[in-house]
Amino acid sequence: MCVNDTNRRDFFKTAAAAGIAVAGVPALAAPASAHTRDRTGHRGERIALTNVRIFDGDRVTAPRTVVVDDGRIGVNPLGARRIDCGGAVLLPGLTDAHIHLKDVGTLHALAGSGVTTGLDMASFPPSLVDSLRGLPGLTDIRSAGTPAVAPGSPQSGIPSFPADAVLTGPDQADRFVRSRVAEGSDYIKVIVDEPGLSPETVAAVTRAAHAAGRLVMAHAVSTAMVVRALDADVDMIHHVPMDSALPASVAARYVSTGTVAVPTLTMMEGFGNLGIPGMDYAAAEGSVAALRRAGARILAGTDANLTPGIPVQPPYGTSLHHELELLVRAGLTPREALRATTVLPAQAFGLRDRGTIRVGNRADLVLIDGDPLSDITATRAVRRVWVGGVEYTPTAA
Ligand SMILES: [Zn+2]
Repeated sequence: MCVNDTNRRDFFKTAAAAGIAVAGVPALAAPASAHTRDRTGHRGERIALTNVRIFDGDRVTAPRTVVVDDGRIGVNPLGARRIDCGGAVLLPGLTDAHIHLKDVGTLHALAGSGVTTGLDMASFPPSLVDSLRGLPGLTDIRSAGTPAVAPGSPQSGIPSFPADAVLTGPDQADRFVRSRVAEGSDYIKVIVDEPGLSPETVAAVTRAAHAAGRLVMAHAVSTAMVVRALDADVDMIHHVPMDSALPASVAARYVSTGTVAVPTLTMMEGFGNLGIPGMDYAAAEGSVAALRRAGARILAGTDANLTPGIPVQPPYGTSLHHELELLVRAGLTPREALRATTVLPAQAFGLRDRGTIRVGNRADLVLIDGDPLSDITATRAVRRVWVGGVEYTPTAA
């Protein structure tokens, strides 16, 4: 386990990025049709969306027909119910790569805004997460479950916080990861903070998670903690430094290590507005600009939450559209911002059945007015949403 972890890691990262299942590594993607044939046996209907322009991951195409068949993108429009979309633009369902689950209302708010995949970055207890998995016609989730934290951290003071997630040293990493895997965590979250877990403990958690076939998500909000997370070889770093903009040399390490950035500018903006010394939104924006210049993969995530005690609570769903606007303001092109919430998160999380409008993929679709490649705010003009082939309506139970 101690030998040559670097090679194993590179292979795993590359494979995950390419959406390839690795032997012994469970894919994050659900088994085929698990989410379209739900607990009640309901199925998405068969429809043909005609006269629709699609974002194909690169550009917006000329008008065409997209078939939805049994919850998936199909091929044959014959006999399907036709919906003339009048030349509107169809996006793959959007992904928010950083949320915290509250209850089923979370899923309704996300779905209503076209966010058909929600990636939770710390929620407990596991029964809450389980209750929100695979609900028909509602946003599909994955979850980190409980994060690894240090004694004295804010999380560790929550009465219901699991004791085995408060780590005092690297020797507890294996047990922590085993518990999360047993609870169903899709990936592992570790809080990298000062004072906090030692570098050795962060690295041990990462090694244990990788040995268990789980990606590692690090929370880091300063350049020093980003460096600690990079040194530990985590897979993704959530948030960006607010103390000062990331130096180009550190941004380059995201690229050389294949580490993915989830800046959560919406949350950084909220904290910047609180006037806390050392928390400067301009630094966060500069960090994203540095990551983009370096060529790092950047995903859209908001940190939407309704967690008691958190002073900034971005709303579920609508905040994702705000995040896209902030990413564009920080230097991404609208095309890059759209990729950051569609094809890139699907690749980075190994969710091979979504992120693009491609035959066989989940029929997670968002119909919008306007051209988001010329104006990113067009994503807000949501006309209709399908989740796993089922059209979302606010009254859906
Ligand atoms: Zn968060």
